[in-house]
Amino acid sequence: MRIDDLPIRDDLRGKSPYGAPQLDVAVRLNTNENSYPLPDDVVEAIGKAVQAELRDLNRYPDRDAVALRTVLADYLGHGLTTDNLWAANGSNEVQQQLLQAFGGPGRTALGFGPSYSMHPLLALGTGTEWIGALRDPDFGLDPDKAVAELAKHDPDLVFLCSPNNPTGTALDPEVITAVLERARGVVIVDEAYAEFARAGTPSALTLLSEHPRLVVSRTMSKAFGFAGGRLGYFAAHPAVVEAIQLVRLPYHLSALTQAAARAAVAQRDALLATVEAIKEQRDRIVRTLRERGYRVADSDANFVLFEVGGDQKIAWQRLLDQGVLIRDVGLPGWLRVTAGTPAETDAFLQATEALK
Ligand code: PMP
Repeated sequence: MRIDDLPIRDDLRGKSPYGAPQLDVAVRLNTNENSYPLPDDVVEAIGKAVQAELRDLNRYPDRDAVALRTVLADYLGHGLTTDNLWAANGSNEVQQQLLQAFGGPGRTALGFGPSYSMHPLLALGTGTEWIGALRDPDFGLDPDKAVAELAKHDPDLVFLCSPNNPTGTALDPEVITAVLERARGVVIVDEAYAEFARAGTPSALTLLSEHPRLVVSRTMSKAFGFAGGRLGYFAAHPAVVEAIQLVRLPYHLSALTQAAARAAVAQRDALLATVEAIKEQRDRIVRTLRERGYRVADSDANFVLFEVGGDQKIAWQRLLDQGVLIRDVGLPGWLRVTAGTPAETDAFLQATEALK
């Protein structure tokens, strides 16, 4: 039997799942993970925190993850408190819950591509109609054009991604403000890569106090190096948090996840110490590729989008043949590479020599 033989929803027929290849190669720079394993003392602290939960696994966890939301509020600062925070299994789940509460059948969500490929997939899964507006050809977004798209479509939700995946560049704060002023519905700013932003790039967190329908989505998967722990969160007006509690599954965040994430946030200085090292490698990739004559998008993230020219699938395969896995995001002529350790950058830069 195949999927199409099943009585599956019509809108899911013929669709492909999210599927970045998980290949066993020496240099994996394709999913914007943090390349650094957790330091030993952090491993020990998380181990202890998880261990302390084990005897009580007969009980359900704290449904509202209050202790975790409190430490996350403290991490974000900006006067945010527990009531402003919500957490789930990755920012993918956070955004799915937002769509469940504010989107759904008969409603629309609008985003500006190229951007994170899960936004339209999450819309699809929740029965929300996706409106794919476009960025400028240089991947920028002009405030007037963004507002014109809102005027045209009047969406129930708007997704902005800053720094944007897969292009890497943060949005001009003017765009976010213009969208917030024009939007009727909820505006989600996906800041999965915020910790990697170049100096002088403000977070949308600064806008929260003035915009009650703004939601800033964050994750521990990137800067914290906690992708396997699955912990995403958002900051918003407390009423938004209350709305999400209508759709979240009871006990969605396991006691083990909550304990591990709390311990990881407590160890944030040690975990976030990798951010500067990764930014150095990112800047080195941008610089070196530009010196070699490539067009490269400015990056505020832990990855770099560069133009290979011609068919990017061929270039992708040639790098893979040399043991370097990067990402074909489906943008004709362009590839995306994650910034990792200095040795990974060496391997990537050496492999790209063969593309010329
Ligand atoms: N948003 C963006 C822009 C991303 O690139 C990613 C990860 N690829 C996510 C959200 C989801 O991350 P997670 O579910 O691991 O928090």
